[in-house]
Amino acid sequence: MNEPIKDQFLGCLLGLAIGDALGMPFEGWSPASIKRQWKEKGFLPSPSRGLGPGQYTDDTLMALCHVHSLIERGRVEPEDISRKFIGWYDSGDLRGIGGATAHAIRRLKKSHNWQESGATGEYAAGNGGAMRIAPVGLFYHNDLPALKEAVRKAVIITHNNPEAVAGALAVAYLVARSVRDELDPDTAIKDASNFIGPCKVRENLQGAGELLGSGATPEKALEILGTSGYVVETVASAVFCFLYSPDDFYKTVVNAVEGGVDSDTTAAVAGAISGSYNGIKKIPEDWLKGVENYDGIQDLAGKLYTAWRKK
Ligand SMILES: [Mg+2]
Repeated sequence: MNEPIKDQFLGCLLGLAIGDALGMPFEGWSPASIKRQWKEKGFLPSPSRGLGPGQYTDDTLMALCHVHSLIERGRVEPEDISRKFIGWYDSGDLRGIGGATAHAIRRLKKSHNWQESGATGEYAAGNGGAMRIAPVGLFYHNDLPALKEAVRKAVIITHNNPEAVAGALAVAYLVARSVRDELDPDTAIKDASNFIGPCKVRENLQGAGELLGSGATPEKALEILGTSGYVVETVASAVFCFLYSPDDFYKTVVNAVEGGVDSDTTAAVAGAISGSYNGIKKIPEDWLKGVENYDGIQDLAGKLYTAWRKK
């Protein structure tokens, strides 16, 4: 049994949930306010959102829909993912669901047609696909052509937009290469760029590469790359944070949270990539212990790993 790969499955899913939960109280905040308020770098509650310390948001809840579906179906099956999204939506536990996603799930509930449910146009270039796609990167890590098609199908259910698909593809690719132990931080941006092809996500990723090369601080870089809910910004900022400190999960996630605005999603994406690269052993113990549903996520990561092995 290849245990290092299992450690990376665990690191990826817990990294995603931890980044999301650390960023949760700061969604919509400016970097300066976060730096003032966030001294201990631990989990804080968000009384305005009704969430306690360590609780995660829609990013993790939707990623777990993918995990459940992959375990049960053994592949990306958009009909089943759609049912899981509807089940989540109907639970009412939405924790900051994005506009395009809510719109798409309401359409799904009426038509049950995943090929037509996704939001389209500019409005659909949000980070709702990128934030939840890491489990698909894990599951298809040894088949990159299949990964491409699986990511597209999974994303267009809610975001039928080429940039949303490209952003998710970049994240899934970096997760997959990490699990394969083939990710070279020095060439990661070039490799991901080649994989996703020409698009705005790629242009901003290359901007992240230039900022890394020029020695920019994370604070400066994220201000330039952007940390809004626009997928072009999220992916470049998350990848910058990862590549700024590839071997240091803690630093990567702290820098992503401190980028502000869509803090939970930037940190969820950065945490998923860094967790895949570093494995669970490099995640600080107090974060592991403090995140919501730690045992449940561990269990699901193990089952996803088993499902991948059976594939
Ligand atoms: Mg969120």
